[in-house]
Amino acid sequence: MSIFLDKEFNALLSENYKSAILLAAKAADDFGIQIFLIGGIVRDLLLDNSIKDIDIAVQGDAVKFADFLAKKFSCKVIAVQENLRTTKVEFPSGVIIDFASTRQEKYEKSGVLPIAYNFGCNLEEDVKRRDFTINTLALGLNKSQMYELIDFCGGYVDIINKKIRILHKKSFIDDPSRIVRALKFKIRFGFDIDNNTYNLMQNYLSDVDNLMPLERIKNELYQYFNIKDKKVYSYLIETNAYKLLCDNPLTNVDFERLKTDFIKNLFNKDDLWVIYMSLLLINSNYSVQRLNLTSYEQKIINEVKFLYSNTRNILTDNFEIYSVYGKINIISLVIYYLITGNNSVKKYITELKDIKVLINGNDLISLGFMPSEKFGGYFEKILKEKLNGKLKTKAEELEFIKKEEKK
Ligand code: ATP
Repeated sequence: MSIFLDKEFNALLSENYKSAILLAAKAADDFGIQIFLIGGIVRDLLLDNSIKDIDIAVQGDAVKFADFLAKKFSCKVIAVQENLRTTKVEFPSGVIIDFASTRQEKYEKSGVLPIAYNFGCNLEEDVKRRDFTINTLALGLNKSQMYELIDFCGGYVDIINKKIRILHKKSFIDDPSRIVRALKFKIRFGFDIDNNTYNLMQNYLSDVDNLMPLERIKNELYQYFNIKDKKVYSYLIETNAYKLLCDNPLTNVDFERLKTDFIKNLFNKDDLWVIYMSLLLINSNYSVQRLNLTSYEQKIINEVKFLYSNTRNILTDNFEIYSVYGKINIISLVIYYLITGNNSVKKYITELKDIKVLINGNDLISLGFMPSEKFGGYFEKILKEKLNGKLKTKAEELEFIKKEEKK
């Protein structure tokens, strides 16, 4: 029995996307080529999710088809990836849609990008290169099968049953980043990982290749860590997926602390990646190089390591807290707080962090002091007083210095 998704199409897509897709559909009939909505968008239509971006598979040459759209339908080709015969097209309504020629793929080495071949193949061959059945669904756009769901791999039933299932048993060996994708879909959609898929995942994770490039895994982890769900980190531990990066991640981290008022305003979405990654890597070094971390990311990990290895030196004096933590990036302190709930970090962030000496050298000169090395000492004395809750105003600071000088 055929399933048609015209209602979902009309309900979930913006007018701009709809007009662009209908224009592409008309152009495909004129050009004599088959095109399909493919992958995530079809899954999301079935799940009643909002649509973020649109992929169209072209059973033929997507680049030639995009040129036709540009010539005859006032579209603009804004990017072409020659080797994969994919292209980005801007439509008169302003939206941008990705067009990919159908293709097959083979993996010569685990974790490395596959070799693409047989461009323009049948859609059925194309969908076999994909990760999970739920991402293999297509929706016909040509007149002959407009809005018709095309399901070669049982993706529809898996969506109904909320199952994440790979297509063949070498899938995780070909591309271990699919493990992170499985967790991403599991958390995002509340799906279960099918038993056989889960066992194959565990087989792979029991013997991870520690030399494999991590670029794809890093990209997937980046997206994964940005899912707003407090289970994000614990799933990575429970499912052993952390083994892709490390062998001894920190566990028992209290993520409720991320929601504490004084912590939650200190980081933004992009920092979540570095926060979670530090917790994974604090005890093992071997992925740092392969993850190609930025110098900022490496600095954070090193600072957290430094703080963590000095946990027993509990700081109590305000000036000491200020001097030590003041030199450390605030994100490193957030991570350290997540791990330890350390009260001196809390004190630094909530009470001490923003304390500054208000007077400067010119103020001292105006008081009649000769510029000298003693100035540094004065500032330090004022700072110590302020850190203990005294000398709120500039006038009080000046008064304090005058008294000090008289002693
Ligand atoms: P999201 O909703 O997070 O954007 P998505 O699946 O819609 O996820 P992409 O990650 O851009 O979007 O992937 C687009 C399609 O490409 C997927 O639906 C899937 O069919 C295929 N795909 C993506 N990554 C892989 C992979 N590692 N292996 C096989 N197929 C993949």
